[in-house]
Amino acid sequence: MADVKEILDLMGTLPPEDTALIEKAYTFAQKAHEGQKRFSGEPYFIHPFETAKELAKLGMGTKVVVAGLLHDTIEDANIAPETIEKEFGKEKRFLVEGVTKLGRFKYHGAERHRESLRKLLVATGKDVRVLIIKLMDRLHNMRTLKFVPAHKRQRIALETLEIYAAIAHRLGMGVVRRELEDLAFEYAHPEEYVATKKLLTEKAKETTERLEKMARALRRMLAEQGVKNFQTDYRVKGLWSLRQKLKRKEGDISKIYDVSALRVVVPTVEECYRVLGMVHNLWQPLPNKIKDYIAFPKPNGYRSLHTTVFTGDGGIVEVQIRTPEMHLGAQFGIASHVVYKEKPGGGDRRQSSFDWIKSLIPRLGRTKDTDIQTASAEKKETRAKRARYGVQTVPEWIDDLGEEADDPDFETALRSDIFSHRVFVFTPKGDVVDLPLNSSAVDFAYAIHSDIGDHIAGVKVNSKLVPLNTVLHNGDIVEIQTKKNAFPTKKWLDFAKTTLARRHIRNVLEKEK
Ligand code: MN
Repeated sequence: MADVKEILDLMGTLPPEDTALIEKAYTFAQKAHEGQKRFSGEPYFIHPFETAKELAKLGMGTKVVVAGLLHDTIEDANIAPETIEKEFGKEKRFLVEGVTKLGRFKYHGAERHRESLRKLLVATGKDVRVLIIKLMDRLHNMRTLKFVPAHKRQRIALETLEIYAAIAHRLGMGVVRRELEDLAFEYAHPEEYVATKKLLTEKAKETTERLEKMARALRRMLAEQGVKNFQTDYRVKGLWSLRQKLKRKEGDISKIYDVSALRVVVPTVEECYRVLGMVHNLWQPLPNKIKDYIAFPKPNGYRSLHTTVFTGDGGIVEVQIRTPEMHLGAQFGIASHVVYKEKPGGGDRRQSSFDWIKSLIPRLGRTKDTDIQTASAEKKETRAKRARYGVQTVPEWIDDLGEEADDPDFETALRSDIFSHRVFVFTPKGDVVDLPLNSSAVDFAYAIHSDIGDHIAGVKVNSKLVPLNTVLHNGDIVEIQTKKNAFPTKKWLDFAKTTLARRHIRNVLEKEK
């Protein structure tokens, strides 16, 4: 039970001071949570221990694993943040406090605020490591949700679906997203879960045989064409993801072509395109279904070639083609990049994280280490090739986004994340309003309703009266007082930021004339 060795074994070779720090955090957390119990009746410490273990499996470094062990000590064991700083340093305190802050948001299902809340979470968890810890925390909580009192399960399951799975998706962590979704689905919509599961089982049975036949044909062709070190594999769609797609297709599963998909992993980008040609040579592709996510990656970084083909025996199947590096990215997204950074002199660290992934996917277990190393050089290879043929390449920094192996400040770069140009503020009732940076209370008022904006008499930010031009900050609670005979003035245009507010102000000023 909960032996620190389990964590250390997952982390590969560590400097002695790192091992000592992990052992110290292990003992510290165990003592802090002493006597506390989970709903399952197990000692509470099992939870931070399992969270840290998942982080180690993801390939996270010592700092993140230590923070994972300590992640509930402030909130649930009354440990002072100062104590964590004194014992483990500033950075661990920052990470643990970040996770604690995220834990205080509660989702209560107000539809229209879902997107804002999601953005708020991302903005608050500005350091991506905080989000990764929080996701692994939630993953263990979802795995043990059956022990939680029934009346709490639904809320937690919905929050997981709407917020945390969405964040996992945004970070490209496909495996985490899928597990969170399917665990939550069962509790959020129990009846639909059972029905979807039944539907999927039937359909998967029908297509497995077909996929095996296709895989055999394709393997033969690849071998004939001299492609080496390839793997074929198939995946079945997640239950929640299938449910979402069924909704878009009027519940007709025969209209969904990627319930199961054939996956081919080949060492280089060039071979991906060659294999696409071979696939189309073997099977007739459907028009408008060929997607090149290698040349045009999805916003979350996902890369692969997709095509959908007629199998010739009445079936239609999706084929996904990718390199080992893309495969790793598709499953672990941003976490697979953090791995590069966290470990000083990280060669074997990366290796050990690959070993874990190999054990996860037995079919890919045949991947040779040399294949992976070849693949990691693929971008340089593409660039060199384009240069050789006189093809203009995109600037280096664009091509290298997301591959920051040598950048010591990788996490700092991640910290200035996509949402850093927005602020998130609250109404006194706790609704989230999402505004551009440097917005004022006037922008806030118009974002709520034009009637409120048109009659602002006074503004309170965090219960204090402030001037109308006060700049709002993340997390501010803003209260607008209105009066029927209060109207916008020309001055407001000096500090109103949003187009919406400015348009309304101008309208009122026009009318006055
Ligand atoms: Mn926790």
